[in-house]
Amino acid sequence: HEAHKIPSRIRFYESSMSSEMTERLVLENDLHDALDNEELYLEYQPQINLQSGEIKSVEALIRWQHPKKGWISPGVFIPIAEESGLIIPIGQWVLETACRQVKQWEAAGLPPMKVAVNLSLGQLFQQNLVEMIQQVLDKTQLDAQFLQLEITESMTINSNHMTTILLQLKGLGVTIAVDDFGTGYSSLSYLKDFPIDCLKIDRSFVQKIHAESTDKALVDMILSMAKHLQLKVVAEGIEEIDQLSYLVNSKCDAVQGFLFSKPIQPEILQESYKSLHNHVKSILDSISVLE
Ligand code: C2E
Ligand code: MG
Ligand code: MG
Ligand code: MG
Repeated sequence: HEAHKIPSRIRFYESSMSSEMTERLVLENDLHDALDNEELYLEYQPQINLQSGEIKSVEALIRWQHPKKGWISPGVFIPIAEESGLIIPIGQWVLETACRQVKQWEAAGLPPMKVAVNLSLGQLFQQNLVEMIQQVLDKTQLDAQFLQLEITESMTINSNHMTTILLQLKGLGVTIAVDDFGTGYSSLSYLKDFPIDCLKIDRSFVQKIHAESTDKALVDMILSMAKHLQLKVVAEGIEEIDQLSYLVNSKCDAVQGFLFSKPIQPEILQESYKSLHNHVKSILDSISVLE
């Protein structure tokens, strides 16, 4: 009965918050069974090497087809997986599935491709992460050079722990990329201290390359910094030809985005590899004609 004294506006916020929390609990509960029920799957988005015009790598992106709610974005369920600890079994499943897929493509006659797998902060604090990845590589017989691990800038904050873990991971022979680079507000000094191989320019910068000169300046700065530090650069979220031609001229190493391909199911990538490759070539050719 105390509730009657609370002004209605506050009560409104309270009740909307609790329904959000209920929804979250329902999702968390359902996510527990999602792995066993085979509701999770991976899609792969090609990364195009701008020097050769070839698809040299793909990024694995997790999907959840919920039996009742339909498709749920990883932007929604990954944070739930992180907070509930479910990211540990899910993350292991992603790694194993992605590594096995690369071997399967190879067996089907596709050119060798590297797979990039996103890691969550919780995984970097997982006791047996390095052993787990070594076991996955052994089990799937994937050569470590074909696995890239993506971390985000915000994970670099606890730098002593991170340096230790990243060095151990590098010891396995895998490569490390910093995802969503430029959005993390962290100190740049980690770039020279951490054993990383690649920066992924966040799509928010790529998409404003032509609209706002400050974003263009940022992209230029990232590219020149990466060159000095001998890091590769992948630009993500390329949707337009102008964005691509800017990045080609700026000597960016690789790009990923809807202009070339959305994330697709592995069977589709396998079946349409040749036509995808031709599609990529024709887009790149149209740029060199423009120049
Ligand atoms: P991310 O790793 O930065 O992945 C790139 C996201 O950008 C993907 O969204 C992809 O579909 C989207 N994208 C790619 N090209 C374009 C484009 O040209 N235009 C636009 N508008 N979007 C584009 P998605 O698949 O929804 O994934 C969102 C985020 O969820 C990922 O961001 C990553 O942080 C997380 N995530 C996805 N899969 C996993 C996973 O297996 N493990 C973990 N820990 N996180 C994951
Ligand atoms: Mg990523
Ligand atoms: Mg990203
Ligand atoms: Mg992102």
